Order: sequence, then structure tokens, then C-alpha cells
Amino acid sequence: MSRVVVLGGAESGVGAAVLAKVKGFDVFLSDKGQIKEEYAAELRKWEIPFEQGQHTEEKILNADEIVKSPGIPETAPMIRKIREQGIHLVSEIEFASRFDPARKICVTGSNGKTTTTSLIYFLLQNAGLNVGLGGNIGKSYAYQVATEHFDYYVLEISSFQLDDIYDFRPDIAIITNITPDHLDRYDHKMENYVAAKFKITKNLRSDDCFIFDSDDTITIGHLSQIVLRCKMLPFSQEKEVQQGAFVKDERMVLRYEKEETDIFLKELALGGKHNVYNSMAAALAAKAAGIENEVIRRSLASFQPIEHRLEPVLSIKDVLYINDSKATNIDSAWYALECQTRPVVWIVGGTDKGNDYGILEELVSRKVKAIVCLGVDNSKIHAAFEGKVPAITDALSAQEAVQKASRLASAGDVVLLSPCCASFDLFKNYEDRGEQFKAAVRNL
Ligand code: ADP
Repeated sequence: MSRVVVLGGAESGVGAAVLAKVKGFDVFLSDKGQIKEEYAAELRKWEIPFEQGQHTEEKILNADEIVKSPGIPETAPMIRKIREQGIHLVSEIEFASRFDPARKICVTGSNGKTTTTSLIYFLLQNAGLNVGLGGNIGKSYAYQVATEHFDYYVLEISSFQLDDIYDFRPDIAIITNITPDHLDRYDHKMENYVAAKFKITKNLRSDDCFIFDSDDTITIGHLSQIVLRCKMLPFSQEKEVQQGAFVKDERMVLRYEKEETDIFLKELALGGKHNVYNSMAAALAAKAAGIENEVIRRSLASFQPIEHRLEPVLSIKDVLYINDSKATNIDSAWYALECQTRPVVWIVGGTDKGNDYGILEELVSRKVKAIVCLGVDNSKIHAAFEGKVPAITDALSAQEAVQKASRLASAGDVVLLSPCCASFDLFKNYEDRGEQFKAAVRNL
């Protein structure tokens, strides 16, 4: 019996271990840190041997194949050893896809992955298809392949998950857009990060589709250097395309094969220019999956905003509070500000990943009446916007930020939490930041 060793005991690793067990491999899981109780319980339930707090070389380097969780960097000493010994190392999605005959729609990119993936899932469900949702959302792909049967999967895939794929092949691949993020994992080289995202296209065949943002200069730049032999479906808000989606006269036009259909932008349930992009990407995936125009229209018009993504919380004294805690980089905050039509009190800050706030300057001076910095170190935000916005103040908790923002806001304004930064200085994660923001709003 061949031996599969899984490194990392969280969602993706445990899913891969369960799948390996179900498929009859001799499985062992090793995690250098502590494994959460829920995952340890799952491993015990499936009678999968594991260790935590250490990597025992003799139990790892005797593997026929190793499955690596996406959180483990290439520089980890154990990964180096595995590479030196030439043991085959794959990602969870590579491993799982070997056992999965379903058609796969896979979404990667810098921003908009969760929104686009969820939209596509909603569209396919509304069309009555037997579809699973996985990857970075909910249960891991591998766990679902082990325990469920679906005809379709819609998978959100981070660039880390694409790092060790060989034969993994989506039927429909989407790159939402590419802007600098997580560059620390790619030797601070943009080309490495772009190449990592483009791995999603690596095995596409002539019948498969590639859906991409043709307004995105980084995506287009990379496309000009490679050859893809699949159906190309660009989406654009700037120009008409032969095949794909574009915006014309306040309508989203879809051109797929010989057919053309359109939807008024004002019918779309999700607001903001960025969500026009996400809606176009999702609609093209639905067209390529053979879904009827009427289902596409109805679905895009009735989709509910996802938590922590431009999520309206409450309106108090005609001030609307919006939770966009998931906006952890400049680009996502840009879109959040861009779509505001009322004066904004902006709550921003946290752990800065090397932000260039200059990109936001024009939007901020036009739309923002006050800034509340929510972070341990707010010096960069002060330096960027001092003198350009009438009021800037600081807060060290979500509650303090909401209270200060409510005093700065008047009837007709918006209080927008769109932090541009990661949350780890003051919160457990972006969900915790969003929850605390919403609780503080409800307590006003
Ligand atoms: P991801 O899963 O890639 O992080 P999400 O769909 O969770 O993306 O959205 C993250 C943040 O990025 C949200 O705050 C949202 O406002 C913003 N956003 C969503 N779609 C886009 C897009 N197409 N372009 C730029 N920003 C976007």
C-alpha cells in the first residue's frame, strides 16, 4: 500500500488525509504547530494517525507522496528536505482532483474571489445543477471529494493552493484581477506572483474556457507572453469584446458563441464597479456551463451581499453603516470608496502590507469628510491624508472607532469600515473585526 503523508492539520490537510484514507492509502498527518481540537477529533474519527508540535523525519521522509497544506511556505526546513530527497509533493487540490470526475469552475485572483465564486455557485444552484462549493470557502475540496458526490464544483483557489499543481485542470478557469498582494511569499517579485496565479490556466484544453479581466493591465501583459489554446472570454468595462462580456449604455452585454444578451446594470443586486466585474465573470461562467439567460438574470438580480464585503449593517439617524472588513488591500478599499454616493466617514487601518495610499488620494479628497484610524500604528495614514481630509482621529477598538465615527457623521452620510489593511494588530482576523464593528453599531 503506498504511503501518503500530509503536512498541516487544518481544513485543507485534514481533508486531504480523509480522502487518502477513503482511497485506501497508508496515511500519516504531521503538523509542526498545534492542531485545533475539531480537526484532531476528525482525524481520530477516521482513524488517521497524526502528530503535532513536531515533524518526525522518519515518519515523513518514507512517504511515496506528500500533500502540503497551502499555509506552509517553500522555505520551511521540512519542505527543503523533501525537495532534496526528491519526494513527490503536491497540493491538496492536485491530490483531490485525481479522484474527482466533476466539472470544475475555478476562481483565483487578487480581489473578488469569494464574491465571484459565491455568485457562480448561486447561479448553478438556481439552474438546478448538483453543485458543490469549496476551496477556500467552507469545507475543503478534498474532504468533499471524499464524502460527497457532485456533478459540478465551484472552487475558490488562492495562489498558494496553485503552488504545487501538476495535472489539476479546471473546465472553466477565472482570474478576477491581479494587483500586488502577499508579495512576501513570492520573493517580493510581482512576476512570480502573476505566474503563480496563471498556473490555473496551465492545463486548459481547447474546449475549456478562460475568463479574465481585459481592463487589467497586469493580466493582459502576462497573456501577451504566453499561448493559451482554450476559449478566451474577456470581460471589460472599457471596451467592447468579440466574445465575453462588456458594458454598453448602462447594460452588461454577454456575447457567448453566436448569442448575445444583456442585463441592465441597475438590475444587479450587488452595487459598485467592482461587482460589475464580478457579475460579468460569474455570468460568463454560467453561460459556458450552459445556463439559460433568464436564470442568469434572475440570479444576478437577487444575490444577497456576503458578510464583511460592503455589507450594509444598519441605518441610524439616516447614517448608513457599512462593514467592508474584508477589504485588506488598497485596491479593494478603492472600489469600496468609489461606489459611495454619500459623504463618507472612513474607518481605516490595521497591519499595513506595504500600502501606497497615494492611489487613494483623489478619491479620498472627493468623497471622505473624516477618517477614523483603527490600528496600533496609524502614522502612514496620518502622513498620507493629514491636511487633505477635514478631520482625522484615532481609535484602538472597534467600539471606539464606531463611536467616534458616529459623532463625525451627519444625516445622509455613510460610515464605511474598509480598512485597507490586515487585522492582526487588534483583532483575531477580518471576521472578528467585522463582527466587533457590527456589534458596536448595534450598541449605538
Ligand atoms: P477575495 O476572496 O479575493 O479576498 P472578496 O470577494 O472576499 O475577495 O472581496 C474582498 C474585498 O475586495 C471586498 O472588500 C470587496 O469590496 C473588494 N472587491 C470585491 N471584488 C473586487 C474586484 N473585482 N476588484 C477589486 N476589489 C474587489
